[in-house]
Formats: sequence, structure tokens, C-alpha cells
Amino acid sequence: MNKFVFAFGGGHSDGDRTMKELLGGKGANLAEMSNIGLPVPSGFTISTKSCEFYHQNRLHWPDGLEVQVEDAIAELEKKTDAVLGDPAQPLLLSVRSGAAVSMPGMMDTVLNLGMNDDVVEGLAKKTQNARFAYDDYRRFIDMFADVVMGIPHEAFEHAMADLKVEKGIVLDIELTADHLKELVDRYKAIYRIKTGYMFPQESREQLRLSINAVFNSWESSRAKKYRQVNKINSLKGTAVNVQAMVFGNMGDTSGTGVCFTRDPSNGENVLYGEYLVNAQGEDVVAGIRTPEPIVTLKQQMPKQYEELVTITTMLEKHYKDMQDIEFTIQEGKLFILQTRSGKRTGAAALKIAVEMVNEGIVEKEKAIESLVSPEHLDQVLHPQFDPADIKEKAILGKGLPASPGAAVGRVVFSSETAEAWRDKGEKVLLVRVETSPEDVGGMDASEGILTSRGGMTSHAAVVARGWGKPCVAGCNSIIINYKNKSFTNGRTTIKEGDWVSLDGTRGEIIKGALPLHAASLSGDFRQLMKWVDEIRTLGVRANAETAEDVAKALEFGAEGVGLARTEHMFFGPERIMAMRKMILSDSTEDRIHHLEELLPFQVDDFTEIFKELDGKPVNIRLLDPPLHEFLPHNDEEIGHLADILHIPFDRLKNKVNSLSEFNPMLGHRGCRLGITYPEITKMQVRAILTAALNLKKEGIKVHPEIMIPLVSTVQEFKNQKQAVLETARSLFEEYNDTIAFQLGTMIEVPRAALIADEIAKEAEFFSFGTNDLTQMTFGFSRDDANIFLSHYLSEKIMTVDPFSSLDIEGVGKLVTMATQAGRSINPNLRVGICGEHGGDPNSIEFFHNNGLDYISCSPYRVPIARFAAAQAALKAKQMEKTDGIVV
Ligand code: ADP
Ligand code: MG
Ligand code: MG
Repeated sequence: MNKFVFAFGGGHSDGDRTMKELLGGKGANLAEMSNIGLPVPSGFTISTKSCEFYHQNRLHWPDGLEVQVEDAIAELEKKTDAVLGDPAQPLLLSVRSGAAVSMPGMMDTVLNLGMNDDVVEGLAKKTQNARFAYDDYRRFIDMFADVVMGIPHEAFEHAMADLKVEKGIVLDIELTADHLKELVDRYKAIYRIKTGYMFPQESREQLRLSINAVFNSWESSRAKKYRQVNKINSLKGTAVNVQAMVFGNMGDTSGTGVCFTRDPSNGENVLYGEYLVNAQGEDVVAGIRTPEPIVTLKQQMPKQYEELVTITTMLEKHYKDMQDIEFTIQEGKLFILQTRSGKRTGAAALKIAVEMVNEGIVEKEKAIESLVSPEHLDQVLHPQFDPADIKEKAILGKGLPASPGAAVGRVVFSSETAEAWRDKGEKVLLVRVETSPEDVGGMDASEGILTSRGGMTSHAAVVARGWGKPCVAGCNSIIINYKNKSFTNGRTTIKEGDWVSLDGTRGEIIKGALPLHAASLSGDFRQLMKWVDEIRTLGVRANAETAEDVAKALEFGAEGVGLARTEHMFFGPERIMAMRKMILSDSTEDRIHHLEELLPFQVDDFTEIFKELDGKPVNIRLLDPPLHEFLPHNDEEIGHLADILHIPFDRLKNKVNSLSEFNPMLGHRGCRLGITYPEITKMQVRAILTAALNLKKEGIKVHPEIMIPLVSTVQEFKNQKQAVLETARSLFEEYNDTIAFQLGTMIEVPRAALIADEIAKEAEFFSFGTNDLTQMTFGFSRDDANIFLSHYLSEKIMTVDPFSSLDIEGVGKLVTMATQAGRSINPNLRVGICGEHGGDPNSIEFFHNNGLDYISCSPYRVPIARFAAAQAALKAKQMEKTDGIVV
């Protein structure tokens, strides 16, 4: 028979940490923790398979599940020496969800299950603590009604608030046993009115309904939204954990809390977290009472604190990662309720990885494989504010620095507005009293998040840190008015649509839109990147065409330039004019004459770039875009140019019109230009080699690679090759000196990929221009594809945008084929890629596996590309070891 139920605790578990797929993360870790002897309350896990079956079979349980649950309860009763539903020795349960991937706040927990009118009295008697017993009961009714029956929690909150007012009480903990007893009656009445049923007294029924509620929550819209935003497609269901309760609400020697083994915002190696005395469950994260920082526990309960430190340190070593741990202290006894890898900011991830390697907890390979992600690096490369830009007067308020980084946007007060405005291209900041799982869509749409309530482990803080979005939480000096769509600090009022800057590193909100500045890179960053470079085999270059960009790229660790787009050098007032004159020339002589004007500019540009590179290779692409991109487009501009050129307006306008094309991207561009106007190619080659020859005299080494764009036939390449070589020869004679350079081509037209072996007979290198290659392989115009691509993506006609992550199935096949064909002719053929995909981790893995020599991406992506290349190398090694079977 199929096993659906897996017991844990009390010295024996059916599962362990490797069984996440089946037991969910929480269940697998509960089993693992009890295996290694930690104080985990006993219980059992109902597998994710059961949930999958339930949804596939019209909400029916699989055969055998019911019996296995009964058996598991019997076993649990034996372990705990208590009986479900028995007032004399009551067993109370928690019912907790937990999928294979941690989804914070996605599915709700029911606590104190088994409670009823008789049990509450039995428990009060047994514990001599009526307050505690009735506190449990009212919590159970509230949670059961909310999670299982879908009755909004507010109904109960109001009842409690009313009662407090009636009794003249401020804090929950001031409620006495009698108050709570009365509250239970009111709760039961609310339950009856809202559902039409009496509150269920039968514990088996309570349990069955709760288990189903967890199953159902898997398909709730908020869970689906979270999976969608986080691209979780492979999971089929959630597990259900049924566990004996332990109680943090038994008085002043009890409490509950959450902690991280290291600080999740900066990575510092200190126990970090919050707790509440005499509290239960999610009181800590719900923001109802303000929790104490974990250091206070050291004074309040020194013995338990020490034990907590010992256990959390051990868990971190055991899991070889920073852990996020939930604990409860029941009358002085510590229990661990959950452990998982903690979400952290990019800066924290780097620090933790580097320190854990230095502390000997993990190998550096492992740290790169699993402790840091490309997104973390992306985050530390994120912009920040310059403190000098922040005027004291403009500061609207201070809250908790819940997730670092700077964000600027227009304020919105609902997730719907956030999403709608984002879709219109607006940058927004989401402002909420507190966030809940319903807000994940709006949080995703926002540049940053601001809440007026909640702590460092509130929903907003946890989700924002996970996503690397700046967040200021618990900024209680502002008052938010949802009705008027505004917030105020008493002096200044900010309305929907106003610009605000949010500093998640310092916890400040500032009026207006401050300029964002690039981040400075820490020692941890440099250390990690050093390890990355030892591991990766794929070269990383940058796309850059100004000395400034080249400098930036080198600072970020680029090993050269993989693409210098020469056309970018023809903008700027003087140059564009010379360029326009050249394009509008009526004769070859004229054209040559105007190209002569451009030559010194190009020589200067290349000189600067070469100097900056100091001997590192640079791949220079000859002129590529359609000429009319350089021409004036409206009458005013044309009139201005006509004046300068002393030609009639109409003649110029006709000329401009005659150069326009229906499909410019498929028109007169790339090598087609160089073939019809060889003088353009010649001028550019002269500029490159002149700069190189001059620098050679100064003792500066230059390694130019000259690249012919948009080749689709061998004849095209040969034609341009001849032009390049002729120019070089005559220049070398002139200088009586030579420069070693290489000549190759871009592979960006599918035909070129198909005849790559023929081209490799002539070319010394290939560089895949994956932007054009994607465009032409799909027949999608990159500039128009957005209209239907977003529809394709939402309808799952495509799962990823092929312009941001390489289409491995199709375009990738051309890359593989062309690389192999080229290398079959010329084993030394250097092969690189210079499209947008050079900065995309998934694509980088593919390029690594296809034996490319290097990738090239924008300067800011260089660290991410280096890191992704190292991860790809480690993954490939792992695959080799396991014969392609992923373990
Ligand atoms: P989440 O997935 O949202 O973290 P959990 O299943 O961890 O939900 O439950 C939420 C909270 O309920 C826990 O943090 C803990 O405080 C409380 N809780 C869960 N199980 C128990 C238990 N067996 N005894 C006491 N408290 C529990
Ligand atoms: Mg929860
Ligand atoms: Mg939890």
C-alpha cells in the first residue's frame, strides 16, 4: 500500500531532510531535526502526493490515507501520553502546511486543534491555568474560523477590541481567565452567525476539515499568485504537518519567537531575532504586540538563551547554511518548531558565504553553488542614495531598515494600483499599514515597500528581503489614510502619485525623487569574486565602446571587450554632421572626402579604448545599423541640415526619404553597407590600425579583433576580408610597421549558422550576436514583439522571453551546430557571444556547456556573468560525476 503519512519525533522519524519533495520543506526538516536529537514536538506529515491526489480526484482523499492518519494519531497519543478529545489528558494539535519550497505566509496554520467545551475545562483543571486554557480555545476558534471556514479574522478582532473597551483593558495579556471565557462565548456566537453551524466539538471532524483546508489553500489565489511571481511550476502540492502543541502562552516562563543564525540584512554573525513572552504562534510576526529583540532573552531566560544558541549553531553547521528558526518555550522548556534556510539580502549573502568558508563550515565551491545567487549579486550592484543628497527637512519619517537598497517611485496605497501603474510603465512605491500575502502581486510591481506597522520579520520585511527590494517597515510616525489615498507625518501630507524616495538600508523615507548612485563593492564581494574566477573556465568580456565604460567593465573584472559598436561613436554634434554629409554624398569621392573628416574622431576613440584596455583584447564591430538611423527625421532638422549643407530643402528631404526602408533591420545594414560602400570599411580599419600603430610606438600593446557584422554568405565575408587586408597592407607599408590583428565575423543570421564550416575556413573567430539571431530565427521583430510576447507569456505559449533568456531549443541549436561546424574546420576558432543573453545566468550555463570561449555583456552585468559562469562550471562537474543524473 502507498505510504501517505510519515511520523516524526520521540526518537524515531520516517523521513529526513532529503525528502522535501514528498514531505515539504517543513516536514522534512522536522523529521531531520528529531533525527539529530533536537527537542521537536512529535507529530506526522501527510505527503504532498496526498494533496496532489486530492486535487486531481475532486477533493477526495486517496485510499488508505484515513487509516494511516488514525494510526499516526494513535502513535502520537502514545508518545505524548495524551489523547485527542479527552478532557482528562487532552492532546492538542497544530495543523501546518509546508510545500517543498518555502512560501512564507502562503498557507495558514491552525493551532490548538482538539479544543472543545469539555477539553477546555479539563485543560484548565489539569494545568491549574484557566487563563491559558481559554486563551487556547479562543485562538483555536478564531484560527479555525478564518483558515478553515473563511470567516474574516476581523470579526473576532472586533469582538476582542470591544471586550477590552468594556473591561477597560489595553493589552491582550491583561485579559483574565473570565474575560477569555466570555470571549470564547462571543466567538462561538460569531461563528454560528457567520457559518450557520455550531462550532464543531468533535476533534476528528476538526482535524479532517483542517487538513482539507491546508490542501485547499494550495489552490488559493494568493498561493497561486506567489508561485506565479516566483516561477514555481514544478510542485504539485503541499504537505500537511500535524504536530503536538507546545505552549508559549502558559505564563511568564513561556514565550515564542523567531531567530536567524546570522543577521539577514547585513550577514553579521550574531543571533538575530525577536520573541514575545506569554504568547503563541504568529503573535510575533502579526505585529499585534511589539516583540523584544532576542538579546533581551539572554537576561530574561539565560539558560534557555544558551540552549537556543547551542542548538541554532548546531543547526547552521548541520545544514551548512544560515538558518531561520522558530521556537517556543513552554514553562522553561525550549522546543524547536521549524528550521529552514533564511532569506537574506545580497550583502548578507556575500558576507555569510565568505565567512562560512573562512570558518570552515563550507567549501568555497559549495558556497558559490548554494549560498549566493546571481540575484544576490544583482542586489549589491544596485544603486544607493548619496547621503549628501538627503536634506534633513525632506525626511518624512524613519522606520526599520527592513530590506536595504534605495528606491524611488510614485506612492500608491493598494496592490491593484501598484500593478496597474506598473503596467503603464510607472515606477511605484507601495505604502501599506502592513502587507499580507494578498499583496505579493503589488509588492512585485513596486520599486520598494513602506509599511507603518510590523517588525523586521513582518510579512513585508521577509518578502522584500527575499526579492532584494528595498523596504522600510514599521514606520509608525506616519499615519496612512487609505480612503483619502494619502499619508501624513503630521507636518507633510503625501498623496497618491507623489514622488518619494525610500532608503531601505537606513530605514528612511524622503520626500521627492533622489538621484540613485551605483553601489560600492565590499571586501566580501571581492573575495567571493576571486574564488569565482578560480573556478570558472568561461571567459567574460564586456560590451563597451567608450573609455569610461571600458574602465567600469575592467573594474568589474571583464577580461576584455567582446563588442565595441562603432556606430555609437558617430553621435555627438560634430560627428553626426560629418556622418550625415557622408551618407548624403552623391559620389564616391564626396563620400571618401567626408569619411576623411570622421577618421580622426575614430582614431581618437580607439586610442582611448586601447589605452584603457592596456593589451586586453577588444572585438570591434564595423558599422552595422541602417544608415538612415543617422539622418534627421523631421522637417525642422532637415531644414537645419539643408542650411548647413547649402542645398535646397526639397532635395535633401527627397534624399532622406529615398534612404528610408520598409524593414530597416532586414535592409541595407551590416556588411551590406561595407560591400556597397567599401570606403566605409576601409576608413574604419584605418582608424583602428592607425590608433594601434601609434600606441605601439609608445610601447602600449593592442590586441584588436575586427568583426564583420551580419554576414550570411562566405562571399560577403571574403569581400570584406579583402577590403580589410588591403587597407592593413597599405597602412603597414606607410608606417613600415605591423600590428597583429584577427579578423572574424558575427554569427547572427541563421544562414551563417547553417554554413558555419564554410565561414570558418575564412574567419579567425565567431561571435554569436544572439539578439539578431533570436530575432531572425523566430522571425520576431525585436522592436515590435512586445505587443504579442507579453500575451504569449501570460498564455504560456512561451515560458520565457527569448530576448532575455536564450531559446535553447531553437536558437541554441544553431549556436551548438555552428560552434561544432566551425571548430571541425578550425579547432582553434575562438567562439564568443555578445548578445543580451551574455548576462543571463541560464543562457550562460548553456554557453559554458557548449564550450564557448567567452561571453560578453554590459559592464554592470560582468560580476553576475562571472559568477554564473562559475556556477555553470560547478554544475557541469557535478553532472559529470553523477553521469548526468542530478542528485
Ligand atoms: P508558517 O509556514 O507560516 O511559518 P507554521 O506552520 O510555521 O507557519 O506555523 C506558524 C506558527 O505557529 C509557528 O511559528 C509557531 O509559532 C506556531 N506553531 C506551529 N506549530 C506549533 C506547535 N506544534 N506548537 C506550538 N506552536 C506551533
Ligand atoms: Mg503563516
Ligand atoms: Mg513557520
